[in-house]
Amino acid sequence: SGGVVLDVRVAPIAEEYILLLADDQTEIVRAQSVRNDFVANVSHELKTPVGAIGLLAEAIEDAADDEDAVRRFASRLHKESVRLSALVQDIIELSRLQGADVVTEGRPVDLNRVVAEAVDRNRTPAENRRIEIVVGGRVERPVFGDPDLLVTALRNLVDNAVRYSPEGTRVGVGLRERDGMAQVSVTDQGPGIPLDEQDRIFERFYRVDTARSRQTGGTGLGLSIVKHVMSQHGGEVGVWSQPGRGSTFTLRIPQLEDAGAATGGAGAAG
Ligand code: ADP
Repeated sequence: SGGVVLDVRVAPIAEEYILLLADDQTEIVRAQSVRNDFVANVSHELKTPVGAIGLLAEAIEDAADDEDAVRRFASRLHKESVRLSALVQDIIELSRLQGADVVTEGRPVDLNRVVAEAVDRNRTPAENRRIEIVVGGRVERPVFGDPDLLVTALRNLVDNAVRYSPEGTRVGVGLRERDGMAQVSVTDQGPGIPLDEQDRIFERFYRVDTARSRQTGGTGLGLSIVKHVMSQHGGEVGVWSQPGRGSTFTLRIPQLEDAGAATGGAGAAG
């Protein structure tokens, strides 16, 4: 890592300067290797659905006179193409978010509306699994940023909560404000996440349970996207979880001073 400089706080100026340069260099090398890792991971992740689609297309050709088989293979091919498309979308979104200053035309955003929209987008998958999404609380002051990106971040958290929860359970979405920060939390009654993996889940393609993530249609990029949207807004995302007791993910975003801007920025979230 690039932590060398921390050890030499009392070094003479010239030496410190050299060490700072050395540290910059490690940063550059590190950034480069992070990019290379990303490309390697992306190639690996793309190979699975692309390979499956090819094989299924061949299987359909071979089974041309067996109508049932054709239908079965076609439906699997459809599933794989949906997965591939979700993966490509997330890769594009994440690449964009990794750039500098993505929020170029920020404006006051009403988080109450962001929550309503993110919940709405998850309505059908939630109903399919008999999961009730309960929204509580309100915030008065707006935050500053890009409403679409904020919806994307929250939509990912609600999507995870719905996908990882057992059927017939509840997902809670809570809004409140504290010390100049807006807080949105998403709570589920799912399997929870072991303590030693709670940092790692925000890494690209990291999954606690690979089979479950794939099976439920996960791309492995959702939380990484959430983390980047938060850093683009000067905010942060945190997790509280205990295996067997569910999980709570919380977004914290700095609020604008002027309460009037909440209505002044009308339409910001939709
Ligand atoms: P995925 O598409 O795999 O869900 P994410 O980046 O959204 O990717 O999440 C990373 C991993 O974190 C998931 O694979 C899962 O193991 C774990 N995870 C995320 N959200 C939850 C949750 N609400 N409950 C339990 N595990 C979760």
